[in-house]
Amino acid sequence: MVLVAIVLVSLVTNILIHKEFEKYAKEQQKTRIADIVANLVHHYNYPDQKWDFEFVHGVGMLALYDGYIIRLLDPDDNVIFDAEKQDTRACAQVEKDITERMEKKRPGLKGSFVSHEQELKWNNQKIGRIVIQHYGPYFLSEGDFRFLDSLNILLVALGILALLCSLTAAGFLARRISRPVIKTAYIATQIAEGNYKIRFDGDIRTRELGELVSAVNHMAVSLDNQEQMRRRLTNDIAHELRTPLAAVASHLETMIEGVWDPTLERLQSCYEEIERITGLVSALEQQARLESDNLRLEKTSVDLLELAHTVAGNFESESFKKKVAVFVSGEETRINADRDKLNQVLANLLSNAIKFTPENGQVRITVSDTHHTALITVEDNGIGIPKGELPLIFDRFYRTDKSRNRLTGGTGIGLTIARSIVSAHKGTIEAESEAEYGSRFTVTLPKA
Ligand code: ADP
Repeated sequence: MVLVAIVLVSLVTNILIHKEFEKYAKEQQKTRIADIVANLVHHYNYPDQKWDFEFVHGVGMLALYDGYIIRLLDPDDNVIFDAEKQDTRACAQVEKDITERMEKKRPGLKGSFVSHEQELKWNNQKIGRIVIQHYGPYFLSEGDFRFLDSLNILLVALGILALLCSLTAAGFLARRISRPVIKTAYIATQIAEGNYKIRFDGDIRTRELGELVSAVNHMAVSLDNQEQMRRRLTNDIAHELRTPLAAVASHLETMIEGVWDPTLERLQSCYEEIERITGLVSALEQQARLESDNLRLEKTSVDLLELAHTVAGNFESESFKKKVAVFVSGEETRINADRDKLNQVLANLLSNAIKFTPENGQVRITVSDTHHTALITVEDNGIGIPKGELPLIFDRFYRTDKSRNRLTGGTGIGLTIARSIVSAHKGTIEAESEAEYGSRFTVTLPKA
């Protein structure tokens, strides 16, 4: 584009300059002839009715060197001065030079020597006649052509300079745009092939490209996280299932081989393990459902206090069996939320609290309404959670050593599910605890 523009501009400029110069040359010719005539008339000796031959000769020879061949006649057509007669050789030379020069430089002009005739008058009285021959329609001197040539050279030089500058700038810009694009395309291909660790590092000064690159980097990070999560999940599931399955398999094998009698307790123990595995699988299923749903919430106005009472009611027989007292207190607190999912959160927290609180312990659910948020706390005076393990209990399959040792059952998924649901409501869930003294779980939910 730049090249075409430069060539076009140079051509148009060139043509315009030549046209203007042609006009200027024609004007010059007219002026020169008028000058010659005025000069001669001015020096006419009117009182004596005579031409000053010396002067006319001077003017004629000077004009000859400029390319004008003059013949001056008196009113009776007697020749006063004739350049061709005065210096035939010089005249021929001038004619030849100009014709050759013009034919060479302006072959299309097809000019020739033309003659211009004019009557000379002084005070309205005829004093003679002048015949001026010159190359027409116009002619240019050697100097004029030199000037035009240097103008052309200048134009070409400027064109080349502009081209070089624009090529450099275009090259720089192209590289600045194409390099990150090519690299991003390569990175995208790598990501498609499963290399999620790859990142685009380096500075990008073009805003749009910067956005593209950070989007690709962001995608790589997300895919990497997902991949890690997927691997961890597969590992965790395999790990969680392997131990109970191996135990059941070895128990059954020993009984089949006749080493152990298949007593009721042994069969019962195998059955409990299988029950636990079934529980684990259904908890996993539930979490998978929650995740695949992308946690779609069906929000309605929910009174959290009423919900707490309902959940506590559902656990009545369990708490009764375990001799754990459950108290619900607080104020009516309405928020916009998914009732079933919050029911699940409270059920998981309450079930844990009852499970990890020894006989005659207490569990307290409190609902309170702060200005912008609703708080639900589930507090117990049970076995508590050691400080070091507190940050881990929300991880999938995490169960504290104590809860494992006490064979309380459980899958280690309940709190993970609770946290997913609370996060989907843009809330938070926190745990405080002191080993042997009890735990407190606080759910904070935004009211809007
Ligand atoms: P699960 O209860 O099925 O094992 P959770 O994800 O609900 O799984 O809990 C993870 C772990 O956190 C439990 O195994 C237990 O060790 C610990 N935990 C949860 N709630 C309490 C609590 N109220 N008191 C003591 N430990 C708790």
